[in-house]
Amino acid sequence: MTTSPVREPAAPPHGGRPRVVIIGSGFGGLFAAQRLRKADVDITLIGKTSHHLFQPLLYQVATGILSEGEIAPSTREVLRRQANARVVLGEVVEIDLAARTVTSTVLGRATVHPYDELIVAAGAGQSYFGNDRFAEFAPGMKSIDDALELRGRIFGAFELAELAESQAEIDRLLTFVIVGAGPTGVEMAGQIAELAHRTLRRDFRHIDPTTARVVLLDAAPAVLPSFGEKLGDRARRQLGQTGVEVQLGAMVTDVDADGIEIKDADGHVRRIQAATKIWAAGVQACGLGRLLGEQSGAEVDRAGRVAVQPDLTLPGHPEVHVVGDMMALDKLPGVAQVAIQGGRYAADQIMRRLAGKAPKPPFQYHDKGSMATISRFHAVVDLGKLKFEGFLAWLMWLALHLFYIVGFKSRVTTVLHWLVSFLGRGRSQRVATQQQVYGRLALEHLGPGWEASKTGGPKVAPPADEDVTGRQSA
Ligand SMILES: Cc1cc2nc3c(=O)[nH]c(=O)nc-3n(C[C@H](O)[C@H](O)[C@H](O)COP(=O)(O)OP(=O)(O)OC[C@H]3O[C@@H](n4cnc5c(N)ncnc54)[C@H](O)[C@@H]3O)c2cc1C
Repeated sequence: MTTSPVREPAAPPHGGRPRVVIIGSGFGGLFAAQRLRKADVDITLIGKTSHHLFQPLLYQVATGILSEGEIAPSTREVLRRQANARVVLGEVVEIDLAARTVTSTVLGRATVHPYDELIVAAGAGQSYFGNDRFAEFAPGMKSIDDALELRGRIFGAFELAELAESQAEIDRLLTFVIVGAGPTGVEMAGQIAELAHRTLRRDFRHIDPTTARVVLLDAAPAVLPSFGEKLGDRARRQLGQTGVEVQLGAMVTDVDADGIEIKDADGHVRRIQAATKIWAAGVQACGLGRLLGEQSGAEVDRAGRVAVQPDLTLPGHPEVHVVGDMMALDKLPGVAQVAIQGGRYAADQIMRRLAGKAPKPPFQYHDKGSMATISRFHAVVDLGKLKFEGFLAWLMWLALHLFYIVGFKSRVTTVLHWLVSFLGRGRSQRVATQQQVYGRLALEHLGPGWEASKTGGPKVAPPADEDVTGRQSA
């Protein structure tokens, strides 16, 4: 049941301070809110989930290394000491630029939030390049729900293989196909291979988990293309040593419950029988971008990203800032640093305007480099001129990710779980409930509303040159 929207007081009872509404509790939204901690404003941070999600470690939740709480602290807890910030759970379904209001809903309760300044940081969802039917058989990895469902599917495949009666059935169950050889696909493939070859090695009696086949495929001719040819080649070699089969120039043409159909660069069509397929090959910005485009005239690209002004605002609306995966500016990639720096920049602009100061110069992104782990003790790091791989790169990767995980408690338990998994053979988080495995099917029966929110809004085909992080071709 939907109630009539509740309108928040036009002038807040505590003195009419400027109202800053932030949509999204991801990297852009949370870092913008934190930057405003000393500002004389009232912040309302509206999030579809009650947590801030550290997406780069989702694959470790999916493969049983970390628990969901470690990478998804409660937003309310993170901001509990910031008196000027209020956290509201709800999905924003409407933005009215003329009335300067945002409407959010949760469980049928709609709330209208008036704003003086708006920061839109609602991120991106999964894209299947117009083939949304693939989602049922090849889940992506954008949320905690996705990661837990994948965990259920991955560990469940080994359980079912133990019971299977024919070799063909065992082979199908022990074949894992990851689509998209960007950082997400590479990290996921490496971890599934380690799971099969190290962690589960002695856990079964009927099957031999080390015979599992892990296939990483991509339509592009390279692994980690944005890291350059040299690092890409090394990553490919290291993946091979970890037990991952890399297939490039391989375009996915169909996916079903039992396998995946592929068209190779030479036109040859073939099929891999595989129970577990994982989609790490496309992003689609949140559907709110389209709303903003319609009302402001801002261009919205095929991936749903809004073309912003050099100061990250909407044309004709200096009070509306769009940051992170939702914005299109100078071909900046969809990575955490773009969102963090954009969120902070928008917050700074707001503070300057309120203080009557001149605006900052146009947004300038400082590329701090990129990195991806391939296996235990092995990562690749691209710092621009300096590119390297191996153990040192892996240590850097550990330190950096630990630094950005939000909350002291999460950092401590993350280190403990990493010790268990990387120094030992174990995985502390192997629980998969039946609801995780079958939940998606049940939710899909709820209909198109669920579909829209799951994939980040209305479907349009995005450019075919981005992976789930927006950095790689697929
Ligand atoms: C699996 C994976 C691995 C990645 N690995 C890396 C990496 O190694 N390095 C790197 O730099 N980047 C990585 N990225 C990309 C990086 O996570 C994103 O670029 C970054 O999160 C973008 O920040 P954002 O604030 O724009 O969006 P997000 O962090 O996605 O946050 C969006 C927020 O908005 C909320 N939201 C969405 N719609 C609504 C709505 N209608 N109403 C209210 N709230 C809404 C969401 O719930 C979420 O809290 C990865 C991404 C994924 C998915």
